[in-house]
Amino acid sequence: MTSTSAAAAARATVHGYPRQGRNRELKKAVEGYWKGRVTAGALHRTAAELRRENWRQLAEAGVHEVPTGDFSYYDHVLDTSVMVGAVPARHRAAVAADALDGYFAMARGTQEVAPLEMTKWFDTNYHYLVPELGPDAVFTTHSAKQVTELKEALALGLAARPVVLGPVTYLLLAKPAPGAAPGFAPLTLLDRLLPVYAEVLADLRAAGAAWVQLDEPALVQDRTPAELNAVARAYRELGGLTDRPKLLVASYFDRLGEALPVLAKAPVEGLALDFTRSAAANLDDLAAVGGLPGKRLVAGVVDGRNVWTNDLEKSLATLGTLLGLAGRVDVAPSCSLLHVPLDVTAERDIDPQVLRWLAFARQKAHEVVTLAKGLAHGTGAIAAELAANRAGLASRGGSALTRDPAVRARAAAVTDAATHRSQPYAERAAAQRAHLGLPLLPVTTIGSFPQTTGLRTARADLRAGRIGSAAYEELVEAEIREVVSFQEKAGLDVLVHGEAERNDMVQYFAEQLTGYLATRHGWVQSYGTRYVRPPVLAGDVFRPAPMTVRWTRYARSLTRRPVKGMLTGPVTMLAWSFVRDDQPLADTACQVALALRDEVHDLEAAGTPVIQVDEPALREALPLRAADRPAYVAWATEAFRLATSGVRPDTQIHTHMCYAEFGDVLAAIDALDADVISLEAARSHMQVAAELAAAGYPREVGPGVYDIHSPRVPAVAEVTELLRTALTAVPADRLWVNPDCGLKTRTWPEVRAALDHLVQAARILREEL
Ligand code: GLN
Ligand code: ZN
Repeated sequence: MTSTSAAAAARATVHGYPRQGRNRELKKAVEGYWKGRVTAGALHRTAAELRRENWRQLAEAGVHEVPTGDFSYYDHVLDTSVMVGAVPARHRAAVAADALDGYFAMARGTQEVAPLEMTKWFDTNYHYLVPELGPDAVFTTHSAKQVTELKEALALGLAARPVVLGPVTYLLLAKPAPGAAPGFAPLTLLDRLLPVYAEVLADLRAAGAAWVQLDEPALVQDRTPAELNAVARAYRELGGLTDRPKLLVASYFDRLGEALPVLAKAPVEGLALDFTRSAAANLDDLAAVGGLPGKRLVAGVVDGRNVWTNDLEKSLATLGTLLGLAGRVDVAPSCSLLHVPLDVTAERDIDPQVLRWLAFARQKAHEVVTLAKGLAHGTGAIAAELAANRAGLASRGGSALTRDPAVRARAAAVTDAATHRSQPYAERAAAQRAHLGLPLLPVTTIGSFPQTTGLRTARADLRAGRIGSAAYEELVEAEIREVVSFQEKAGLDVLVHGEAERNDMVQYFAEQLTGYLATRHGWVQSYGTRYVRPPVLAGDVFRPAPMTVRWTRYARSLTRRPVKGMLTGPVTMLAWSFVRDDQPLADTACQVALALRDEVHDLEAAGTPVIQVDEPALREALPLRAADRPAYVAWATEAFRLATSGVRPDTQIHTHMCYAEFGDVLAAIDALDADVISLEAARSHMQVAAELAAAGYPREVGPGVYDIHSPRVPAVAEVTELLRTALTAVPADRLWVNPDCGLKTRTWPEVRAALDHLVQAARILREEL
């Protein structure tokens, strides 16, 4: 095909669409089913209606081929486990008794059995259920969900393309089942899995699928030669089948790199590539393999991970280049639209000027259609859209929200000295010891205390105008009094105010900083029926007034013990928001860091001797490819230091992260130069402490000794034992005693008992030391 006919054939498609519905109908139906208020039949009907509505929206926008099978009651990786019959032994009885209840048992567990483990889907905030596969895994074909959903779309007269998680990514996402030999790699099951995929493909073809998309996002990560061989084998085998639809292998979230030549050579009819992240690398690599002659290239030029309107002219330029590199070029978002909210027109509180900068899923569907039209019929065919797009981009670029000269001048003037403490760790540690006068093994918490319904109701009342801010603040102060007096009585050494005033650790700050926007309906699935509404970091960030000082100061007025100030760090403020795409992340992080630096300064001036800056997202924001990590670690840790280095030597900076596996961020943790770090460790038996010690980490550490994810209260003996283990790795004068994370999800009785046990354990060990 010549490039003109490749252009004429250009079509628009998407990889997936938000599942929840306009008013989160899916959440309500699924949770209603769990509570016994919604029947299985009603749940199925709601789901079918939501799928139909999604396809209707896509078709109305002009999308030529809609995805099917991307819908899920809980998670598409779990759906894939069901599709290939990979049900762990402990869930088989439940699945046999009732497929739907068994499905939810795998997702959420029951009184009797634990659920599958849940973890983050690549570098997104979506969580999937981790397949468990052992060496004796037997796969069986269950294609009904895929087939049914395809038929539903075909019955509406739509061109539809089933989207299935690819076999290699599926196995790479799996973890060895309990009892598997150490080092067992689920990828070794590939030959057993492929026949099931062959059957699924045959079933989909029989049901009318012309194309099937196999998603292989794991191929944008660094892969070993053996893994790449598995990819080649998988697609040689699937491509070699006679009874199959055309195959589109989809990648997203980063460049394909060394997997690109492997897939380009494979006997499949199409590839989908991400041209929003690492666009240049994908373009170069594509040219280097001689393009994809005769194949379909689905070009992800519209960012499926962010909420900004596309730069249509820039995308058309990319698409123009791609025309010479493939038999047919289709236009798509970079990945499933699952990761963005549904519809910007639902937003009523955002300034209309700003609203036109934003594109959620529904708007992105229009964008890919416009681009396909422009590609097929020339820019003349989309002149009006281009003009509106240009005007929108210009208004964003020239807006006072996105460009605050004072913020920019300050960021430009940041010196190296501003990102380093004035004294090396050893010297300031001595100053802090003298200043704080803490006992050995000081006991503290991570910040939040139980969020009572009274508080949540009060916040809702405040928002709705049912109570005034004075009444609300009164309630928060009462809560702080209770939290402080409890901690004093319980015998904690460094107190917190309890974070009663915070709805969420990012949103609370976003609401007070310029540059951030809040959405009303911008829900995005985090996992299962849990949805979050990430704030939109749209403009230059500035702190008009102190954000937390009032509450910390109040707590301090109630006690003579040191009170710790609590802030959310710059990386986490970015990672759990939609970030601006018109400047490097590092620049945005620097602005947020400066705002936090002001807050740190004000906290210190208000007499706060310990300030904790949480960075739970430091690891999850790591780039997918190792080659990109050093640059990330450099700006991320510099932003943290910029936020925290302005303090006196005797002010102690803490940080907190909630994960126990942090091998890949060890260097980053060191580069934060925080005086004390608290980490999750209770469930992994203090492994964190051992790893830090082995790496020669020189500062103070609080490996969590209370697993706050569970209602279980650890006994004194258990905590003492964990601390003894920690003491084998960390010297006593550098060990802290604290829970794994904040206490906001726990109940007061649990918290009272657990913290009492922590204090007792610390006292027992102090006696011995
Ligand atoms: N300071 C926060 C809290 O205690 C930390 C939360 C987190 O690490 N996710 O709730
Ligand atoms: Zn945490």
